[in-house]
Amino acid sequence: MGFDTSGLLPLSDALQGMLAQLDGCCDSEQLPLPEALGRVLAMDIASPLSVPPFDNSAMDGYAVRLADLAGGAPLIMAGKAFAGQPYQGEWPAGHCVRIMTGAPVPAGTDAVVMQEETQADGDRITFLTTPVPGQNIRRRGEDIREGASVLAAGTRLTAREMPLLASLGIATVPVRRPLKVAIFSTGDELKPIGTPLAHGDIYDSNRYGVRAMLDRMGCDCLDLGIIPDDPAQLRAAFQKADREADALITTGGVSVGEADFTKQLLEELGEIGFWKLAIKPGKPFAFGRLPHAWFFGLPGNPVSAMVTFDQLVQPALAKLAGQRFERSLQLPAMAAEPLKKAPGRLDFQRGILTQGQNGLEVRSTGSQDSAVFSSLSRANCYIVLERERGRIAAGETVTVEPFGGLLL
Ligand code: AMP
Ligand code: MG
Repeated sequence: MGFDTSGLLPLSDALQGMLAQLDGCCDSEQLPLPEALGRVLAMDIASPLSVPPFDNSAMDGYAVRLADLAGGAPLIMAGKAFAGQPYQGEWPAGHCVRIMTGAPVPAGTDAVVMQEETQADGDRITFLTTPVPGQNIRRRGEDIREGASVLAAGTRLTAREMPLLASLGIATVPVRRPLKVAIFSTGDELKPIGTPLAHGDIYDSNRYGVRAMLDRMGCDCLDLGIIPDDPAQLRAAFQKADREADALITTGGVSVGEADFTKQLLEELGEIGFWKLAIKPGKPFAFGRLPHAWFFGLPGNPVSAMVTFDQLVQPALAKLAGQRFERSLQLPAMAAEPLKKAPGRLDFQRGILTQGQNGLEVRSTGSQDSAVFSSLSRANCYIVLERERGRIAAGETVTVEPFGGLLL
């Protein structure tokens, strides 16, 4: 993997290096459709039928044959077709059929004329317009053809896919079991929420961010809590996570000064690389494998932990879970104020993106220190500033990445 002369590893190299080693590790099972919400499809889904399954009316109106309209005389209504109750009677020449939206069109129908374009006098219907062939008819298979591929393996099932699958009559779907991810926070200074703080203590906040993001991804989370900076307790936690989960995510303990400690332990237990990423926030990062589980060591600083999870861990977990992953869109926007930046690292500054008079405008949330959590909570996007770039002047174009699935 390409460390450059600065000794920092570019984000894209880190990501590619990880993804090249990872493979899907979740078996599949067949689940009833409603229980499959949030799961990842294990196989492509082909349509067992055509949608719509029969030619039907797109309007309330009258089914007609064009030849009957040629003379311009009114037609006699032969009967009615409702959704779920097809018209089954005779259809003599000079007649039309009253038809409702969704009703199958009777055999021989050339078009449906909407009710608003007709005048009814008892059973005698006068047509005020001449329809073109096929008008207001939804054709069989127009939406989906039988046998067509409708959803690809790796799709995560959301509210958008559920009605589609139901419309095909699919009652059970092949999905992957959720990825099981163990997490813990490290640090003697960390206290659980709901307990008093002694001088020098802080609350463990990272675990709640990581848990929330795992939840959004549909992973099963095994929360091992806070582990003090103590080799015996850390070793036990690593081993438990390795036994019980597919992956382990920790925060803290990978920065200079602490790395030696965790490094020694992790080198004893598995094969872990300690990287210095060329991104800000989030320089220290560890990745590798324990005997069974993959390991991701996030920096302790809260903003760094969130950003490295979002940018690096999310795609990696998606691959393990068999889930197709698409990065959020990146868009150009105008910097509405100057932005501080030193060349050397790819910055993920936190910004507020708004619709200005002349297009998208972005402002900074203020201090971009990796310990300032409000910089993230008040933001709705990253301002992604290229490595080589320095200070940005107001009016310059910058790249923004609106917060996607995990951070919304
Ligand atoms: P570390 O990476 O362990 O050196 O931690 C870097 C900074 O992040 C220190 O100020 C820690 O106190 C802080 N920190 C580490 N873990 C957490 C956590 N779980 N929640 C909040 N802050 C943390
Ligand atoms: Mg620490």
